[in-house]
Amino acid sequence: MNKNAKLPETEEGTILFNVDPIIVKHHYEIDYLHSYAQDSPFFAGLARKKLLGSRCTACGFTYATPRGHCMECGAPTDWIELPHRGRVHTFTTCYFGGEAFLKETPFTLIMVEFNLVNTLFLSRLIGAEPEEVTIGMEVKARFLRNAKFKPTDVYFVPL
Ligand SMILES: [Zn+2]
Repeated sequence: MNKNAKLPETEEGTILFNVDPIIVKHHYEIDYLHSYAQDSPFFAGLARKKLLGSRCTACGFTYATPRGHCMECGAPTDWIELPHRGRVHTFTTCYFGGEAFLKETPFTLIMVEFNLVNTLFLSRLIGAEPEEVTIGMEVKARFLRNAKFKPTDVYFVPL
């Protein structure tokens, strides 16, 4: 037994950004294996320039933002291909955004409505100034040539 045992001291320190409350800087980095599970066909579709929604196998309710099960009746859904053309149902101009989008502000988010589809699809609108965007304006989907397997692989432009 050693009653004088002690951990070695180091000369490493940290920058104190604030005292009350204490704010310090820590580097944080992680590689994360993320499964898209049942959403995989949607992202695989974007890589093939297809926009996939879903349709209820029981009541026929259709979803532009796909769901594995129907929100109306609970039955499973099947994948359906959505048209590439739709209309702006509503929109907003974002003057602030998450870190990934901050350098692109201001940008326009739209809710796209499609013929014969019961729900809307959230996406970016490119190629129109905020004051040019109107409810009901026709838009068409465009896809990144090099898919990143993210929802932003699809965006819309004025038709
Ligand atoms: Zn249903």
